[in-house]
Formats: sequence, C-alpha cells, structure tokens
Amino acid sequence: NRQFYLASRPAAEPTSEEVPFRDVPLCEPEQGEVVIRNMYISLDPAIRGWMSDLSNYIEPIEIGEPIRSSVIGRVVKSNSEQLSEGDVVLAVGAWERYTTAQAAAVTRLDESAGIPLSSFLGIIGPTGLTAYFGLLDVGKPQAGETVLVSAAAGAVGSTVGQIAKLKGCRVVGIAGSDDKCAWITDELGFDDAINYKTCGDLEAAIRGACPQGVDIYFDNVGGDILDAALMCMNKHARIAVCGWISTYNEADAPGPRNLWQMVAKSLKVQGFVVIDYVDRFAEGIEQLAEWLMAGKLQYREEIVDDLDNILPTFLKLFDGSNQGKLITRIPEE
Ligand code: NDP
Repeated sequence: NRQFYLASRPAAEPTSEEVPFRDVPLCEPEQGEVVIRNMYISLDPAIRGWMSDLSNYIEPIEIGEPIRSSVIGRVVKSNSEQLSEGDVVLAVGAWERYTTAQAAAVTRLDESAGIPLSSFLGIIGPTGLTAYFGLLDVGKPQAGETVLVSAAAGAVGSTVGQIAKLKGCRVVGIAGSDDKCAWITDELGFDDAINYKTCGDLEAAIRGACPQGVDIYFDNVGGDILDAALMCMNKHARIAVCGWISTYNEADAPGPRNLWQMVAKSLKVQGFVVIDYVDRFAEGIEQLAEWLMAGKLQYREEIVDDLDNILPTFLKLFDGSNQGKLITRIPEE
C-alpha cells in the first residue's frame, strides 16, 4: 500500500522531504473494519493546516501518520455486516491507495444513481456545503445586496457566487487570471470580476465593480485582498470568513491591517467550518442537488490520475493553477 505521510512539519510550502511516500503491507481488517481501495482523493487547502500543530478545528496530523484526506473508494475486504465487498463509500482516509476504516464511520454512496462519484467530494460534498452554509447561514444575503467573493473561480468561491445570484444579489468575484474571470462572468453569471494580479489598485477596482459598496464579503483568501475588501464594506455589512489560503504556507504572515473597519462600519465578521453544519448536511445536499439537476449550478473539477505526484498536484491550490475542485484519481484496473 503506497502512502504519503508527514515526516516533519513544513514551515513553508511542503516538499517531498516533509511529505515522502512509503510502501507498507496491507493489513487484514479487524472486527468492524473495512479495507477500501481508493478511487478519488480530495485535495483541500485545509490539509495544509492539518500538517501544522497550531490550534485548529480538528487534531493535527501526527508525525509519521499518512496525510489525512477525504476519499471515495470501493470496499475490497469487509469484516463488518454493514458493508460488503464492492460497496462504494466516502471515508476519512489518506493520501494512499488503500484505506482501512471503521465501517460505522464511512458513508455508503449509491453508484447506480448516475451521479458522478467525484461530485460527492465537491459540488454536493464538502465544498458545495461550505458555499451553501457559509453564504446563506453566515452571510445571510438579501435580494439586491452586493456580494464580493475571493478565490471566486475555485471550488467553494464559484459555488458561492452562483448561489448568491440565485438569491438575487449583485455578485462580484476576485480571481487570479483573465481566463478565470471570463469563466465566472460569461458562464456562471457573475456580474463582474476582478483579476487581482493585474488590476493595480485592488481597493479602487472593488469600488468600481461595487458602486453600491459591499454588503457581504465571502473571504477565501485573507491577506491583502481582505484588507482591500474591508475598506469597501457598507455599514452593518457581513464578512463570512471561510479560509485564508494566502497565509497557509507562511509562518509569519502579517495580520490584516484594516480590521478597524469592523468598528467604523459596525461589521459582523464570522468565521465558520463546514462541519459546524453536520446536522444540516442532508438539507444542503438536497438543495444543491436540486439546483444542479435544474441546470442552475455549474462546476469544474480537475482530476489528476497520478497518486505518485499527489504532492505537486496539491500545490496547484497555492499557485492558482487548479481549475475548480482538485482531486487525485487512482483509476480502477
Ligand atoms: P480553490 O478551488 O478555491 O483553490 C484555491 C484557490 O485559491 C486557487 O486556485 C487560487 O485561485 C487561490 N489562491 C491561492 N493562493 C492565493 C493567494 N496567495 N492569494 C489569493 N488567492 C489565492 O480551493 P477550495 O475551494 O477548496 O478552498 C477555497 C478556500 O475555502 C480555502 O481558503 C479553504 O481553506 C477554504 N475552505 C474552508 C472550508 C470551511 O469549512 N471553512 C471548507 C472548504 C474550504 P486564484 O487563481 O484566484 O488566485
């Protein structure tokens, strides 16, 4: 069983010295366990956070442990009455070919429903649910309001913008290339887009694209983009703090400079993690699936068939070269 593991904690972008691979023998499942042959491994920015031992919403990955990740795979050995060989499941696994898990802790997926399995990691999985609950429950958009979203062509951001449009908002996205900006305006229906790498004065660009000011900023990146957005918020506006990807590889990233706008504009700034909403996942999945079936939501996935290069693939999240939800696939033989 090939698996990538944490040899030491990275201080910057993780390298193959900190995240090497090893081949370990495959164990027989103990009572209540199943062995899953992984097909899809979800690559999420959060994994970078789990490589650190700073306080977080779940335990860090311990040194020597495989790199934790959501996976979808097929049960190949079962020592549980709940699951049979051949079942397809969603599990907390790792960057590895085979995962051993408690049967009670995995979710069986219905392969016959015709839904692409990878979408259970993306649009109707954790990323779609993050957009859904973060925007609707934390941001609380009202028709006619202006919603600004960063990493707007990414898995979470592109879904946030489309849901905000469904709620009748004016939506402006910030993204890192002209192609991404064209995709979100021309294909997804965003009202405007800003390429933060080429726009020059970002604060001025946001003011130009949001003439009525910003009522909700859905923050995926933190850093300079958050600082610029803070200066454009309306009185009583909200910021949904979803992620700060611009800082994940920097141990000494400077904090935001313009947080005083929270006072000046009576802002409500709220962080959240999608697992806060685990009791309402069924509601979120149902609504996302309905919009999807009705053609009201679009998404992109970048699926890379290369377990051996999973680390360089993961790093695409940090240089912006991923096109939507990023997944490593291990094709079935
Ligand atoms: P994306 O598909 O959005 O990929 C990450 C994108 O972030 C890149 O494509 C890049 O887009 C952008 N980015 C990377 N580095 C920077 C930087 N320094 N400055 C600005 N933008 C940058 O990933 P996800 O949709 O999976 O995740 C998006 C955010 O949501 C992350 O912060 C993640 O941690 C967070 N998240 C939070 C969850 C929660 O429960 N709170 C759950 C899931 C995700 P570009 O080309 O535009 O720069």
